[in-house]
Amino acid sequence: MILRKVPSDVTWECEYMSLVYLVSVPSCDPSTKVGAIVAFPNRSFVSGFNGCPSKVSNWLLDTDDKYSVVRHAEENALDFAGINRCQEQRPDLYVPFHPCPRCLGKLIHFRIKRVIYHTEYRSSVNDDRLFNLILQNTEKEFRPDIIKYDEKTYGKLLFQHRHFGMKRKA
Ligand SMILES: [Zn+2]
Repeated sequence: MILRKVPSDVTWECEYMSLVYLVSVPSCDPSTKVGAIVAFPNRSFVSGFNGCPSKVSNWLLDTDDKYSVVRHAEENALDFAGINRCQEQRPDLYVPFHPCPRCLGKLIHFRIKRVIYHTEYRSSVNDDRLFNLILQNTEKEFRPDIIKYDEKTYGKLLFQHRHFGMKRKA
């Protein structure tokens, strides 16, 4: 990870999206490290990363069963942030990849206002049809804005990152 010179006019979106990559580092997933940031209106934030449920051995992440077991970064970040605080304050959520339908349901349930994702990458658990179906059937007021991060608007990320094929040292 290479730290770039931090510009004085860095946007909050740039700061949070850069943090998404930083907080993904502790993930024990051997192939895909994902971070998420729940950013509240008062600028406090909560982070999460993907991995096995607490107290479940990480070796499952090396098997084909991992997709059924692994908790997504969004789920962990939301749980840490707490449903009451989220429903009251309607924070934004930052993630590196387009969220999956399962997480979308939870994001709506927690009343996330904006979902800002960095790249169009979609994993095997993604299903655009289901994603749009859930969104279209959500009350308009509680439908989160799904926004792709735009470097021209928000600025170049502060960190370079490598997610794939990274292994955590034992
Ligand atoms: Zn997900």
